[in-house]
Amino acid sequence: MSEVLNVEEIFGSKVFTLGKMRERLPKSVYKEVKKIIDHGGELSLATADVVAKAMKDWAIENGATHYTHWFQPLTGITAEKHDAFVTHPDEYGKMIMEFSGKELIKGEPDASSFPSGGLRATFEARGYTAWDITSPAFLKEDATGVILCIPTAFCSYKGEALDKKTPLLRSMEAVSTQALRIVRLFGNTEATKVVASVGPEQEYFLVDRDKYLKREDLIFAGRTLFGAPAPKGQELEDHYFGTIRERIGSFMKDLNIELWKLGVTAKTQHNEVAPAQHELAPIYETANIAVDHNQLVMETMKKVAGRHGMTCLLHEKPFAGVNGSGKHNNWSLGTDNGVNLLDPGDTPNENIQFLLVLACILKAVDTHADLLRQSASDVGNDHRLGANEAPPAIISVFLGEQLEDVVKQLVETGDATHSIQGGKLLTGVSTLPDLDKDATDRNRTSPFAFTGNKFEFRMVGSADSIASPNTTLNAIVAEAFCEAADILEKADDFDIAVHDLIKKYLTEHQRIIFNGNGYSEEWVEEAARRGLPNIKSMVEASETLTTEKSIKLFEKFGIFTKAELESREEVLYETYSKTINIEALTMVDMAKKQYIPAVMEYTRTLADTVLAVKSAGADATVQTTVLKSISEKLAEAQAAETALEDKLAEAAGIEDPKKLAFFYKDVVHTAMDDLRTPVDELEMMVDKKVWPVPTYGDLIFEV
Ligand code: ADP
Ligand code: MG
Repeated sequence: MSEVLNVEEIFGSKVFTLGKMRERLPKSVYKEVKKIIDHGGELSLATADVVAKAMKDWAIENGATHYTHWFQPLTGITAEKHDAFVTHPDEYGKMIMEFSGKELIKGEPDASSFPSGGLRATFEARGYTAWDITSPAFLKEDATGVILCIPTAFCSYKGEALDKKTPLLRSMEAVSTQALRIVRLFGNTEATKVVASVGPEQEYFLVDRDKYLKREDLIFAGRTLFGAPAPKGQELEDHYFGTIRERIGSFMKDLNIELWKLGVTAKTQHNEVAPAQHELAPIYETANIAVDHNQLVMETMKKVAGRHGMTCLLHEKPFAGVNGSGKHNNWSLGTDNGVNLLDPGDTPNENIQFLLVLACILKAVDTHADLLRQSASDVGNDHRLGANEAPPAIISVFLGEQLEDVVKQLVETGDATHSIQGGKLLTGVSTLPDLDKDATDRNRTSPFAFTGNKFEFRMVGSADSIASPNTTLNAIVAEAFCEAADILEKADDFDIAVHDLIKKYLTEHQRIIFNGNGYSEEWVEEAARRGLPNIKSMVEASETLTTEKSIKLFEKFGIFTKAELESREEVLYETYSKTINIEALTMVDMAKKQYIPAVMEYTRTLADTVLAVKSAGADATVQTTVLKSISEKLAEAQAAETALEDKLAEAAGIEDPKKLAFFYKDVVHTAMDDLRTPVDELEMMVDKKVWPVPTYGDLIFEV
């Protein structure tokens, strides 16, 4: 039996929690900090000094030597630059470790090497990091030692956001302000803010590290760029929720411990649909903390996998032909006096506030379906959204039977008089309890599904930061709330006005509701008839950031300026082109140095065999036929490899970032597919012993 784990003790042990602040700070300082966490404001420098000292003392007691402003540039991952707490030694040569309030609240990394789109050309390279006091500082421990990490926002000299956190925080304030107006209309005078909560379910793959290291594509691109399907895939559905193998289980256990120490509420773990695919879900929390924690989850997964001789693949599509990975972004809004705005209660038809909130969300999602889709796009996610084997990239909302019925009543008669109830689920076994049934069944194919008291946005990519989707969600819903509040605050008769508004919004935006199979071909056609956008790629989605509609939305709530949006669009094009370029170069490299030489070698062996068999006077027809067909494929692969290199040379001549991104998507990508096909076919034709890299079967069935 292994040692007893005391989760209560280890949870948050590496976090400078509110509890630790209460213990270590003078009462008045603690109060000031708490007030700012709850209601915003700025810490005075004197107070910041006191907090910094307490934080440093705690960190040093726990072995820390350095601190870092931990931030989230547009690369989608986190960045850190370590500074030791060391100062000038005193005259006797003794070191006193120090950390000032100024160092806590503000940092100044050189911004010039982070993606900034157009912003860098027009503005200075200077960038500032500013402490996000609402997200607790924590200790990261690895070979570097123990580092105190301070979550920060990252802005340019002129205050433009250069990161993912700043706009997210702005959007959280916007949705809070507007949602408060809504709850005030319904007589809630106690709430002082509305908090966006997020619970992201993280999917990932684990592969054996030694095999991983034999594949350049996994190393450089995070996904396989070649590979014939294994004889077995996921068709038996025997992996989903299956028994967790020892090696994986021991990884999961260590992962949980590391995450709990960091204050991440790792809760649910299971095997996913594809072989070698798994999932981890924490308990939901305030959006910006959830975003930070999701970064820690991804980082910790990689670190812990390494300790277990494995590599964690977070890419959205590491293997063709088997399920990819996503992140289900569960999102809701709640007041600080405990009301979840997305909780319909038992009789949603009578819950007018809920119906208004729902109507506003439907309006928001319908109006800005393009932006929502954009917020979930990254290079890897193109393989999941709208690709051959993936669901279409059409945004629609699943409401379930109960709510759909309420909406229908409202649209048809202007009144909702009843709600379908769940009733009892009869098991038919006398020893089993009869269960209360939910009023609504689940739907696994909807990109935006109502799941009881929250929405689950399922398009998000597994490797991507969840900051953008939540920024967009908060922003579009803030806009809808604002428009509704503008009307309702002026209404003479609130009851009639709210009733009319709900009906109007539901009627105008009901086209976004779809409860059927989102993966079916019929839905693609139906959605087109309804006029819903079907944006097939990240590159096309990027354009939606700078439409008039988008600029108006984001500027109105101070979330992005036009310049910030333009810069982000440009960064996306650059990221796309660079990523595909790396993938293409990796393919060229593997084809030229591994696949083609291996097959040539094999054909030589075959040719020798043909000669030997013939000289022995036997019939060499089979050997000759095999040799001929392999040689033909080899020629195809060789030609495709040259063609891909030609396309890359052509790409190098395109300057405009948008044009270049489209060229990579339309031309280079096709050339990559053309190279993959013959190589994958060759894999099925030649002796496994001579194949230069581990196969799909080796990678996903032998972890
Ligand atoms: P599933 O069955 O889809 O896996 P779960 O009930 O396990 O759904 O929840 C998935 C995630 O949703 C978890 O992270 C959970 O904490 C989060 N969640 C639950 N309620 C809410 C809520 N009100 N707001 C945001 N996230 C929530
Ligand atoms: Mg889910």
